[in-house]
Amino acid sequence: MKRPEARVRPAQLPPVRISPARRRTFQRRLLSWYRRHRRDLPWRRTRNPYHILVSEIMLQQTQVDRVVPKYREWLARYPSLEALARAGAREVREAWYPLGYNIRPVRLRDIARAAIRRHGGKIPSTRDGLLAFRGIGPYTAGAVLSFAYRQDAPILDTNVRRVLRRVFLGDRATPSEKFLWRLSEALLPRGNAYDFNQALMDFGATVCSARRPRCPACPLSRQCVSYPLANPSAAGSGGPGAWKGCSVDGP
Ligand code: SF4
Repeated sequence: MKRPEARVRPAQLPPVRISPARRRTFQRRLLSWYRRHRRDLPWRRTRNPYHILVSEIMLQQTQVDRVVPKYREWLARYPSLEALARAGAREVREAWYPLGYNIRPVRLRDIARAAIRRHGGKIPSTRDGLLAFRGIGPYTAGAVLSFAYRQDAPILDTNVRRVLRRVFLGDRATPSEKFLWRLSEALLPRGNAYDFNQALMDFGATVCSARRPRCPACPLSRQCVSYPLANPSAAGSGGPGAWKGCSVDGP
């Protein structure tokens, strides 16, 4: 489940400086964990930008296990942007049930219509092109760019935000959205953003979870300034003074 998106544009931000050794170790351990533990989700078997956009809009405010059956059902009913663009607002709201937040299916239908009108029936492959749609914020743009178009685009959702904060800053740190976007960008392995971003999200959902982080079994424990985290967001772990190997110009 992802929270509503803040309007931060990562491409316009100066980079975070992080030591190459620390970055490589983080990438290697995370990707190694992902190869063994990745979740098998239907939107990971496609590169269709429309299908990936549907999954990302559904995942806003809704848990993965509720999204999976609705994702399949939606694509059976609206297999293309053209099919969705022809639908009425009431019809798409009914098709969306019971996911809730019913502005989402109408916005998705509007995106389909605008993509046909402005982009010849294609979902754009540029950040600015995606952000021009109502309902697509920086996270969703980064997800479409990295998952559908395999571009080296960072993402920052609830899970990624929590993992980066805990590993590099400490669980009680309060970095800005801008800083976290820059950190997400700085950590990306060039040419492998797809796996890396999926790994960050899976890791945050299943290992470094909000309430029950599995620190003793965590493959990132030796890098993590919050380790061991016994009482998330309450115990004395981290804070700005705990930043290790992460040279920055301010959170
Ligand atoms: S050691 Fe704990 S807090 Fe740190 S990344 Fe692993 S699970 Fe998260």
